[in-house]
Amino acid sequence: MSGQYEELEGDNSELARDPNLYQIADLLQDNDIDLESIQHSVVQMLRAFGENPNRKGLRRTPERVARMYTELLDGYRQDPYTLINDALYEVSYDEMVLVRDIEFYSLCEHHLLPFLGRAHVAYLPKGRVLGLSKIPRLVDLFAHRLQVQERMTRQIAEFLDELLHPLGVAVVVEGLHLCTAMRGVKKHDARMITSAMFGLFRRNIATRQEFLENISRGASSMF
Ligand code: ZN
Repeated sequence: MSGQYEELEGDNSELARDPNLYQIADLLQDNDIDLESIQHSVVQMLRAFGENPNRKGLRRTPERVARMYTELLDGYRQDPYTLINDALYEVSYDEMVLVRDIEFYSLCEHHLLPFLGRAHVAYLPKGRVLGLSKIPRLVDLFAHRLQVQERMTRQIAEFLDELLHPLGVAVVVEGLHLCTAMRGVKKHDARMITSAMFGLFRRNIATRQEFLENISRGASSMF
């Protein structure tokens, strides 16, 4: 990894050839989302519910749902390099970089219902930083697809680790899962906290503690 890192310095075009980043981004590039099939399926679902898809309120629902999914699932087809390419900087800064309370909305792959909440992302730079505004977009890259919260958390951490080769990465995600909350089962489980810690955040208790204190300070209730 470190050899590859040196090669990348000062030449962002080389970045586009890092296959590890594409592997972590886990894109669906071969086909576009099939709007027509989604519309057709929604009509069938409405009928299966016992509804009349032709009644006034529902007539345009299949079309609306199809367009909505295009937006909610755009993380599958977002090229990560378009997202980050112009915002990588070589710096000597080596203190913790932390972006907390990043709002996210994702879809649980088990029920196709939303889970939403906040992500906290930190890393300890080793010569390279990413523009702060890109971190929420990185969260969206992995949130805007069918997900499970554990995997989303790990993917965000792995992606930053591969992109920046920092001394450590930490990601904590707090999510409210509507598939649990709306159905009134196990309500106490509706809020879920997941984390991924790499490098110094994993090995060094003081570093991890500093991060956890920073994200809990002044934390307000999620909703
Ligand atoms: Zn679910």
